Parts: sequence; structure tokens; C-alpha cells
Amino acid sequence: MTSSGIVEKLDAMEKEEGSLPRLLQFYRELVRIQARVGQELNKPNLGFSSEEILQRTSEGKPLVAGSEFQFDWPLLQKTSQEVVTLFSKYTDLFNNAPEEFDRLAEGVLTSDSVGAWYEGASLSPADGINEALFRDLIHAAAKPFLVNYSESLAGSVDMGRWRQGYCPICGGNPDFSFLSKDNGARWLVCSRCDTEWLFQRLKCPYCSNTDQKKLSYYTGEEGPYRLYVCDNCKHYLKTIDLRNSKADVLIPLERLLTLEIDAQARDYGYSPCE
Ligand SMILES: [Zn+2]
Ligand SMILES: [Zn+2]
Repeated sequence: MTSSGIVEKLDAMEKEEGSLPRLLQFYRELVRIQARVGQELNKPNLGFSSEEILQRTSEGKPLVAGSEFQFDWPLLQKTSQEVVTLFSKYTDLFNNAPEEFDRLAEGVLTSDSVGAWYEGASLSPADGINEALFRDLIHAAAKPFLVNYSESLAGSVDMGRWRQGYCPICGGNPDFSFLSKDNGARWLVCSRCDTEWLFQRLKCPYCSNTDQKKLSYYTGEEGPYRLYVCDNCKHYLKTIDLRNSKADVLIPLERLLTLEIDAQARDYGYSPCE
């Protein structure tokens, strides 16, 4: 149960340091919403046999592709309203005008926009709403539904054989990676459903570039973090080396604890892959 671990860890940080940064307070509340919604969901049944799973993954096809992503629309709508209420409490963390949050609260989410988001299409949100904010809302509200797929299906996929730059469950892009404790192999983490899969260390997951002259990484003075960059597509990937880190690392939380690495990557001229 990663979510209860995250909440516990943030509670402990708050106790130790007297207070939590606003971003982490926001995140703790979001994780609580997502965990509660996750508990309401039934195990999805896509009806795949193990042969079909093997077939699809060997063709590089995610298990929940496009229209196969089914969601309980009333529950997703209700979740999105809770997320909007939360966003409205923390408008200082966003670069958006207050009116945009009022517009979001009017219930502008549609099942078509969720479908478009899932397929990585452009979103064309309602007037007065910035697309990036709309994307953040859908990402936050849809997350428990995608994590539910991952928790049900990831165990039947051979993650060592997938080797694609996108998620074997939902097709999303990775936004974090880790080097495993036992042998330092690199695992990517899906930005949408937190699925983890094995990937080559000397290849860019975003553009498949393997030209070593265009791939590099930075490490901090000390500590377990690495910043992988690609000069072909100009994207970056944050990474934690678990051989060199504390034992109680929670990868989803690491995304937020490493924002200075994002700033550094942007300074160097790289951008995240959305
Ligand atoms: Zn995924
Ligand atoms: Zn690249």
C-alpha cells in the first residue's frame, strides 16, 4: 500500500520539521483522495488469457489500449470535483488565474476529454481554462482508476521482456526511473499508473535514441540521484540509484522531493516528456 506509506512518511516529516511545504501538504491530501477512490473500485476484468497477454506485450501493445480504458464515469466525475476543490485550496501552487479554478468547479470534465487525455490527444478544454491545468486535473482524478488496472494486471506481464519506452499497462510515458538495488538495472516508472518496467540504461525512452554521444547523465555531489538527458529529443528523466539510497524510498513521493532536479534540467535546456 504505497499511498498509506506516503501519508505516514509525510506525517512523520511534518512532525520532525514542524511543518510541511505547501506542495507536500497538497500532495498528501491528493493521495488521500486517490487512495479512498481506489478502495471503491472493483478489480477490472479485461478477460485476457495469459497467451493473449504474452501476444500483446510481445507486439509492444499496452494491455489497456485506447477504448479499453473503462471507468466508472459518475465516480470519476465525483473524484474530479474533489480534486478541483483541493486545487482551489492551493491556487498558490499553480500559475493560473483564480477564475480558472471557478470555471473548473462548474464541472467542465467530459468523458470525451478523459478519453482524449488517455490517448495523448490535445484536449481543447472549455473557454477560460488552460490546457495544462485541465490535464493536471484529469491526471489527478483518473490516477486511481489507472493504478487499479496496474495493480490487477502488472503481475501477469513479464516486465523484464517489455523493453518499450512507454507503459505496458496504460501506454503512458515514464517520468521517473530507478536503478535496482540488486544489480543496478534501470526500471522506468509510468507517470500515469506507477507501473515499473525494465529498460536499457543506454537508450532514451522518449525517442529511442541509442547514440551514446547524445546520451549522458549528471549526478549530484553525493546522494542517490541521477539526471539522464538526451540531446536528440532534449527530454530528461530523473532517476534514483537504490544501491545508494535509504531503504524506505517511496518512488511516487520521490517525484516531488526532487523538484530541484527538474529546475536544474530546465536550466540545462531539457524538458520533461508530457
Ligand atoms: Zn501506465
Ligand atoms: Zn531522446
